[in-house]
Order: sequence, then C-alpha cells, then structure tokens
Amino acid sequence: MSLLVVGSVAFDAIETPFGKTDKIIGGAATFISLASSYFTKKVNLVAVVGGDFLKSDIKMLESHGVNTEGLQIKEDEKSFFWSGRYHNDMNSRDTLVTELNVLGTFDPVIPEAYQDCKYLMLGNLAPSVQKTVIQRLKNRPKLIVMDTMNFWMDIAMEELRETIAMVDVLSINDEEARMLSKEYSLVKAARKIMAMGPKFLIIKKGEHGALLFHQNEVFFAPALPLEDVFDPTGAGDTFAGGFIGYLAATDDISFDNMKRAIIHGSAMASFCVEKFGTERIVNLTQFELESRVQDFVDLVQFEITL
Ligand code: AMP
Repeated sequence: MSLLVVGSVAFDAIETPFGKTDKIIGGAATFISLASSYFTKKVNLVAVVGGDFLKSDIKMLESHGVNTEGLQIKEDEKSFFWSGRYHNDMNSRDTLVTELNVLGTFDPVIPEAYQDCKYLMLGNLAPSVQKTVIQRLKNRPKLIVMDTMNFWMDIAMEELRETIAMVDVLSINDEEARMLSKEYSLVKAARKIMAMGPKFLIIKKGEHGALLFHQNEVFFAPALPLEDVFDPTGAGDTFAGGFIGYLAATDDISFDNMKRAIIHGSAMASFCVEKFGTERIVNLTQFELESRVQDFVDLVQFEITL
C-alpha cells in the first residue's frame, strides 16, 4: 500500500553528552522514510532541499527504495538547518538554531504518480504546508497521521488547530500535549485533543514509552531499556515511520493493529537512539528488527491469575 511522506529533509548539528557532529543528514521526513522503508517499499517522499544538499544522501534514501521524484532541489538556496544540544539526562534538549531556509517558502508539489496514496504521513513542517498537502490530494487517503512540535505551537497555533482537525492520528510528546490542551493530566489532555479532530492520539514520553488513545481506550508501549543511548534526535520521527510503515504494509487500521504498529515504531526508535542521526537505522537487518520486536514482547509479557 503506497505511503506518502512529507516533512523536513535537513542538515542537523547535534551535541550530546557523548559527542558532537558537524552537519549531518537529518529532518523529520528523512527519519520517517528510512524507518518506514523497512516495512513497505512504496515510500513516496515530498520535501525540499537546497543546492548544498549531498547527492550521496539522496542516493542513500533511494537505495532504501524511497521514491524521490517529489524531492525538490532549490539549487540557489540552502537546506533547512537545525541544531540542538541535549542535557545530561538526554530527555530534554535545547534548540540552538532553526534556519528554515528552503522550508520558509516550501510549496509542496505532489507528483501525479503519488496521487493514489492510501497512507499519508505528515512529518514535522509548517502546519499550513501540511494542510496544503491534504488539499492537493485528489482523494483523501485511508489514514492521515500527523506529527508536529512546540515550535509550531508557539508561532502558528491557529493553522495548527486547522490542520489537526483534518487528520486521523496525531503524534506529539507529553510536553506538547500539555501545551496544546492546557491540561496537566495526559488523560484529560488526550480527551481535549481528540475533540479537536483526530480519532487517535499518540503521546510520546521519550525513554518512558508511548501512549495510544482512542475513544475511551488507552494502550501503553514501553521504551526498551537500552544499554547505550547516544543521540535521541529523530527518535519521534523514526517511531512515526515504523508506525505508519507497519500500518501501510498490513493495511489494517483497527485499534488492535495500531497497538502492533506502536510496538514496531518503538522498536525502530530504539535503534535510532543508539548512534548519531540516521547512522544506526540506515543498515538494519530484518533479523535485528524482528529480535528487537521480540525484546518488547518479552519485556511486557507476564502471567497473572486473578
Ligand atoms: P525529533 O527528535 O523526532 O523531534 O526530530 C528531530 C528532527 O526534526 C531533526 O532531524 C530536525 O531536522 C527536525 N526539525 C527540528 N525542528 C524542525 C522544524 N521546526 N520543522 C521541521 N523539522 C524540524
């Protein structure tokens, strides 16, 4: 089932307590596309980069089966650049630089070949651009999943609310859920946010896992306790890529299958944090992925007699 992925494709510069990178490939759509490519080979990318972007990075995406026909290259402009520094606990970070560059004027063009997509993943981008993508599709996809961040809540709350109203699943972190709903309790926050439009809400809690809300039901997926956490950048996007990639591959959007998708997303994210940027998720084997999913099953499985 074809999947359309929209979002930033970027240069990131990251500082963690364990090291520092120069400009490396990053961006929400990069992590999403790579993660989803482990589940479905019909990943269609819509994004924009500048003339400074490396051809080898585009080739790397293509080698994962990502269709880059919808990747615009603005030769005379610079790619989106983001830089962040993690605190010692690795759970929080400061954004040091956000240079929108090509993203500031991004007009998402959907190639004709992408029009029949059944699954749409709106990665982190200006909410007005995310909305334009939905409006430019001739048919509404079977499932629209959206990710966003506090940056857009600060500067574009109205457009964000409009876009949220159009999607099926919203994926945000706990801090963003509180900011959006003005509620401290995540249960109350989830109720308020689902009343804004999405039928499903995912609240990510970093190393404490993720919650999936739907009507009055809630499912919890832990994060795997890892020996080494090196760089959490892109973990949320990698999670989203694994989630929607699994749904697209199985073509089943029931709540039960979404639970399985959340576990696959969590497994992908657990790899992402083990190295800088995309380094760990570019060369995964099917065996590694399956063993990691099994680790999740083992982690939470127990027997109880009541
Ligand atoms: P995450 O760690 O999952 O929040 O994702 C980090 C990725 O999001 C980085 O690779 C950044 O390039 C990208 N990013 C950061 N800020 C923005 C923004 N305002 N718009 C789009 N992408 C962003």
